[in-house]
Amino acid sequence: MSYKLLDGKSTSLFVQEEIKTEVDRRIANGDKRPHLAAVLIGDDPASKAYVGHKVKACNKVGFDSSLIERNTNISEQEVLDIVSELNKNPEIDGFIVQLPLPSHIDSQKVIEAVDPSKDVDGFHPENVGKMSLGLDTFKPATPAGIMTLLNHYEIDTEGMHAVVIGRSDIVGNPMSSLLRSNTSPGNCTVTQCHSRTKDLKSHTLQADIIIAAIGKPHFITDDMVKDGAIVVDVGINRISDPSKKSGSRLTGDVDFENVAPKCSWITPVPGGVGPMTIATLLQNTLKAADGK
Ligand code: NAP
Repeated sequence: MSYKLLDGKSTSLFVQEEIKTEVDRRIANGDKRPHLAAVLIGDDPASKAYVGHKVKACNKVGFDSSLIERNTNISEQEVLDIVSELNKNPEIDGFIVQLPLPSHIDSQKVIEAVDPSKDVDGFHPENVGKMSLGLDTFKPATPAGIMTLLNHYEIDTEGMHAVVIGRSDIVGNPMSSLLRSNTSPGNCTVTQCHSRTKDLKSHTLQADIIIAAIGKPHFITDDMVKDGAIVVDVGINRISDPSKKSGSRLTGDVDFENVAPKCSWITPVPGGVGPMTIATLLQNTLKAADGK
């Protein structure tokens, strides 16, 4: 089967262009530039890279951005104080606290300290609850970005059987919620799998759409995918690759080379879900600025 790529890179550029046009319109009107702040604790290279991409994307679309960096040894109270300052600061429309946080800091406590009207990650329980109820709110950027990608390629998911692998609060759970919602795209029948699922393959083989959010390189193999399936690979895994100067490269949760020929549509890694996550964060920030 000849597959088509769900190209997150070009779709993200399309979304960013729309946002830039809207920002330019607002500036011409004398309105304030949307302002996103990011809090980065510690020196995890992957977190640093993600935050760097987010700040760069802000600058591209004409947003103001602030990066607040602190050492790993910061106390939980100091992080909560930063959140409280950002909540109060009228210049900041929305902000994110990059996860994971060091283990001595209670992430849930920090998430719940964020003002829901500035929670552009959509992780606050109030926003999670609103999303589950189908109410207008900030949706977590990765699953919402996947919905935008499906929509961009006019994929009609109504009635499809979606198998989501993963149940994290940032990907698997909100993804299942969005795919089963009465929206377009959406209206899927959703099966959600995780590490305790028995005979995972028996589920994935029934899937019209597979969303792989596991965090294990090349975990989804061709024998797990039915012909014509749509496969969305959320995974970002660094594996060793002696042919690269750095000695490593990024790869997804799907064995792309062998799975792609069975698919109707598939996302590449990199260039699939990752850029859509960033584009959606920008959309959420614009929405937060609208709320002012
Ligand atoms: P996570 O919190 O570690 O969740 C992984 C999920 O996979 C868990 O629910 C786990 O089940 C399940 N799992 C693990 N082993 C499994 C197995 N053998 N069979 C079935 N399910 C299994 O990770 P996450 O934060 O959701 O992220 C998942 C991946 O997406 C990671 O590679 C991450 O880097 C990537 N990611 C990418 C983006 C992006 O923008 N592209 C954004 C966020 C995350 P249990 O719940 O039972 O442990």
